[in-house]
Amino acid sequence: MAGTKLTVVICQAQGRNPVKRQLEEDILISLIAEPGVDVSLVPHLYDMSHDHTGMLFLKSVPGNILVLGWLFERAIRWTLDRTGVRGHEGLTLLKYEAEDDEPDEDLDEEPRQYNGIGSVHVPNRNIYCVDMRASESADAYLAEIRRIVTENSVQTVDLMSFINGTPKAAQLQRYLQPERQLEARRALDSGAATSADKESLPEDTRRRWYPVIDYSRCTNCMECIDFCLFGVYGVDALDRILVEEQDNCKKGCPACSRVCPENAIIFPQHKSPAIAGADGEVSGIKIDLSKLFGGDDGTSALEMAVGERDRELILDGREAVGASVGLKNRDRDEFDELMDDLDALDF
Ligand code: SF4
Ligand code: SF4
Repeated sequence: MAGTKLTVVICQAQGRNPVKRQLEEDILISLIAEPGVDVSLVPHLYDMSHDHTGMLFLKSVPGNILVLGWLFERAIRWTLDRTGVRGHEGLTLLKYEAEDDEPDEDLDEEPRQYNGIGSVHVPNRNIYCVDMRASESADAYLAEIRRIVTENSVQTVDLMSFINGTPKAAQLQRYLQPERQLEARRALDSGAATSADKESLPEDTRRRWYPVIDYSRCTNCMECIDFCLFGVYGVDALDRILVEEQDNCKKGCPACSRVCPENAIIFPQHKSPAIAGADGEVSGIKIDLSKLFGGDDGTSALEMAVGERDRELILDGREAVGASVGLKNRDRDEFDELMDDLDALDF
């Protein structure tokens, strides 16, 4: 049994943006010798499949984890949850505030309260998520990590001895050697990577696009499974909605996030912070982001969703269905209004 270590996992940015890579390296290097911390580097969280070794590594961490990634905190948390990396929400003080949606006067109100079905099988440990757009300074992250280490009192087992006890130890070894990972990554960037370097790095990922469900908001109403005509959603053994076939989702399309009555569906790579998982603060103002699910031109969220779904159906060589399919749970007034609006449009 070892002490009370916090495992810090840095999820790399997509591409090779030098500023982002430098920040990742500065944090990694500083943490290698940091007492009370184990540190590792994995590929971009959202792009890793469930059986990617980086995801297996995350699943193997037994104690408290702090995950740094280039996504909104909610997107990090619920992407981890879907893979079974669960824990109580650890409080973080270093926050990224979205700036690119422009709230208008109507949005100047408190965020709504949600009452979702929550996560299941949550172990007694904390998961801290930090969006790496929060600061460009490694010192800000180090200060936050030290604060968390100081407040941490939950006993964990030693990471190395835990992993040594599993059949995946050889595969996951690379994540336990951050200096070697860094050296290999630099060799790859400079075009001088040897085969040994490549073996020290995680397998490649590709950019992906799929919905992530925030179960703190989701009420299991099943509107998304009715609306999606591409077989993305399913239910688990407890009859809870889940994103079953992630890669069936249509790249760039966020249609079901606009249909979800609880704003529980996140597309972490969408350009609108509301859809990408922002948490109710834009430019420092607390607002109800749910109003940002529609179009800038006043098009309602449902109209946008129906149009986006029809476009994908047509691209698939199928018939557009308009609002006639998958909106049966909608309140009649809202539905009639939508039908009138759609009649006036020309899809
Ligand atoms: S539509 Fe939203 S609230 Fe309803 S089941 Fe889907 S994710 Fe959950
Ligand atoms: S965006 Fe479209 S294809 Fe993807 S899950 Fe939602 S409705 Fe289905």
